[in-house]
This record gives sequence, C-alpha cells and structure tokens, in this order.
Amino acid sequence: MFYHQAEMNIPIEKNYDVIVAGSGPSGVSAALMSARRGAKVLMIEYCGSVGGISTSGLMSHFTGSVRSHLYDEILNRAAEKNTFKNYSPKIHIDPEMLKITYMEMLKEAGVNILLYTLVCDTITKDNKVIGVVTESKSGRKAYTAKAVIDCTGDGDVAMHAGASYFLGRENDNKMQPATLMFKVGGVDMERAVFPGSFETTVETPKGELQELAKKLLPYPAGHVLLYRSTIPGIVTCNMTNCIDVNGTKVEDLTKAEIICREQMIPIVDFLREYVPGYENCYIISAASLIGIRETRHFIGCKQITEEDILAAKVFDDWVVSDAYFNFDVHNITGASLDKTGVQKNFKQTKGYTIPYGCLVPKEINGLLLSGRNISGTHMAHSNFRAMPICVAIGEACGIAAAIAVKTNRELRDVSPFEIQNILTMND
Ligand SMILES: Cc1cc2nc3c(=O)[nH]c(=O)nc-3n(C[C@H](O)[C@H](O)[C@H](O)COP(=O)(O)OP(=O)(O)OC[C@H]3O[C@@H](n4cnc5c(N)ncnc54)[C@H](O)[C@@H]3O)c2cc1C
Repeated sequence: MFYHQAEMNIPIEKNYDVIVAGSGPSGVSAALMSARRGAKVLMIEYCGSVGGISTSGLMSHFTGSVRSHLYDEILNRAAEKNTFKNYSPKIHIDPEMLKITYMEMLKEAGVNILLYTLVCDTITKDNKVIGVVTESKSGRKAYTAKAVIDCTGDGDVAMHAGASYFLGRENDNKMQPATLMFKVGGVDMERAVFPGSFETTVETPKGELQELAKKLLPYPAGHVLLYRSTIPGIVTCNMTNCIDVNGTKVEDLTKAEIICREQMIPIVDFLREYVPGYENCYIISAASLIGIRETRHFIGCKQITEEDILAAKVFDDWVVSDAYFNFDVHNITGASLDKTGVQKNFKQTKGYTIPYGCLVPKEINGLLLSGRNISGTHMAHSNFRAMPICVAIGEACGIAAAIAVKTNRELRDVSPFEIQNILTMND
C-alpha cells in the first residue's frame, strides 16, 4: 500500500560554493578548510550541536594519530578551554568545550551553519550532485552548491545520489556494534583503574575485571572500557553494547538507544561492586547521539585495504599521511574485541596514507566522501574511523572542494599534488 504525496515545489533557499553535510570531526574540518580557502560554505547538521560523535556522542578522547596542522590546532584550542588546566592530555575531550571550540572556529572562518536540519535528498543532474534537499521545522528546502561533501558518517548524501556501496563486512554485511557512551561522577581517582582496551586485564580481589564483566553484565554488554575525562572524579564509560544494528534504519537506532540505556544501571551497579575506585560512582550524563561505528562503505575511484595499512603504504597521490591506529573491530556477535580485531597487539608502527581516489565516488560528480564513509574495506575502516584520521580526511576534502570551486573543475579532476602542496605548506 502507498500514500501518494502531492507534488510540491521546494523553495531553493540559496546557492553556495560548498555544502558540507554533517558536522562530525570530518565535517568540521571540511567546512573550515574550504571556508578558509575562500569558499562560501554551508554546513548542515541534524543534531542541535556541532561535532558529531566527538561531542554529541560524548566521546572520551581522540585515538590514533595523523599528520595534520588542523588537528593540532583543534586539540590546542579545545585544551585552552578546559577548566582543569594540565589535568589531562590534550587528546582527552570535554564535549561541551569541544562544541564551543568548533563553533568559534567555524564562525571565525565564516561558515554558515544550519542545525536541527536533516539532508533528506540530493538534487542531481547528469550524474552530478548540484544540491541537497533538507527537512526541518521549516519544512522542505533546497540548497544548491558547486561541490557537496558527505560527512554524515553513514554517507546519506552519497546514498541519495545513487553512489554504490556495501554495508558492513564484505562476507555478510554485519556491522560493528553500537554504543551509547555515558559518564559517571564520584570516582576516587587515586584508586580508580582505567582499562582502555579489551586486551587490558585487571586483577582484583573479586576476580579479573574483563572476565567478571563477561559473566555478570547483561549480554551483549560484557567488557570494561573506562577513560579519564578532563574533570577530576568523572570517568567516561564505553561499556554499553548493542549488536545486529543497522545504523541506516531508524528502527535499529531506536532499538540500540533503548537496549543501551537499559544496560546503564546494571553497568553502574557492576562498577560499584567490582571495580576499585568506583564504589560511590553515579551516572551524570549519557550521549545525545547513539554511537554508530560502521554502516555504508562507498565504492570510490580507489579503495583502501587492510593490506595497505599493514604495509604502511605510501601512495603517490596521498591526501592523508602518517595515519596511525589499530584494527579496532568490536565483537560483531557479542562483547569485547572481534576475533579479527587487534588493539594492543597491533604490530605495524609506521603510519599509512590515504589516496585521493578513496574520497571520490566512482560514478558520481560534484560529491566527495569524507570521514568514516570513504571508500575502504571493513577492516581498513576499523582503523581510519579514528577521529584524528577523520579530521585529516575532512581537511583534504575541504581543500579539494575549494580548489575545484576556484578553478571551475570537477572534484575528480583536482590534482592530489595540489592538495599535498597546501597540506604541507606550513610544515
Ligand atoms: C561508541 C563509539 C566510540 C568511539 N570511540 C572513539 C575513540 O575513543 N577515539 C576516536 O578517535 N574515535 C572513536 N570512535 C570513532 C569516531 O568517533 C567516528 O568514527 C568519527 O566520529 C567519524 O567522524 P565523521 O565526521 O565521519 O562522522 P560522525 O562523527 O559520525 O558525524 C556525522 C555527523 O553527521 C550528522 N548527520 C548524519 N546524517 C545526517 C543527515 N542526513 N543530514 C544532516 N546531518 C547528518 C550526524 O548528526 C553527525 O553529527 C568511536 C565511535 C563510536 C561510535
């Protein structure tokens, strides 16, 4: 059965040089870099704040590393705002301070921002994206642009434009589990333990913590990941866990939110009973955006693979360099690390590069892929999804879009060497 909606005329609000859909780490950097290079930019974000998972997802810290002046600038500026100076390393996140930092930087660069607005369709002409359609309190609106950068994490724009993709891992399309991050207060920091990877075990008088969690927490929760915050006594918990979630389906997002919230009180009870330093802890806040790790992987002109990362491959046409992280695959069928994942035992010590072709969708013009939705395999994605690497991917997209606009070229025709020159200008 269908409901036939009457045809409607959607007002075209404005024309921009560059539209950035999504304001996560890759969206903020894409918008900043194109605006700083002279483009008229509109950033469209579905939440009420900028930052995506790095802020609304209540993230604990930036993991991994990358060569990026913009990433360093973000860390320095956010750290300046921390209430407790020098209490925590710069990579630790105060989500509220990071939101304010991003906002300040975007405002200084002259980026136009629309919050509470969902990109729900694209305007395409001859396989080229020339604008987006949005849905919000103001109803449906359309915005046109010379270049659109998809920083939605799930690649909603690329999907609407008809770009090819696959979901999750290659053999069965299963995706990494979802997590609702939350914070607890009242932690005794002198005695508290901080198991920061699944492979970190902690012996206590009552038993080993990861083993206890596996036995006692409501499945599929069952591991202990705890991180210091920027504020004494407050710890970020990456411990709720929901499997079989397709983050591109609203029913699954709802299921994940409900299941993860149901796990929060049992997790806090567990922390109080079994984890040293957490005897008097209590919940203070949970993320306003459910943490979706993995969804669509798009088919680009090139594809980055696990082998490229293991070989620390240096592509001639790189636009991201010195990217470093591990294979952070959370267990697709339960708690802890997936059998394909490698955290502490990751052996490669050198960083890898990402070629420009991973950012360019194979068949669609006028569009760049950014952040966690670039063209890569499931295993490679478990590495480049780390936020510093997403910042650097967005940075390259922003530069590429500004060049394309200024020189009236297709995005795919921008030379990666021009992007490299700009990225290394201030080395
Ligand atoms: C639970 C969890 C824990 C993690 N832990 C860490 C960690 O400790 N360290 C680390 O470095 N990385 C971590 N990551 C990975 C990292 O947070 C993400 O991979 C990264 O934030 C992706 O950045 P992004 O810019 O691609 O997208 P996101 O951060 O996902 O941002 C996408 C933005 O787009 C918006 N959006 C989505 N669809 C639309 C639409 N149709 N219209 C408008 N806006 C839209 C969203 O609201 C969001 O703001 C974690 C991820 C999760 C989920």
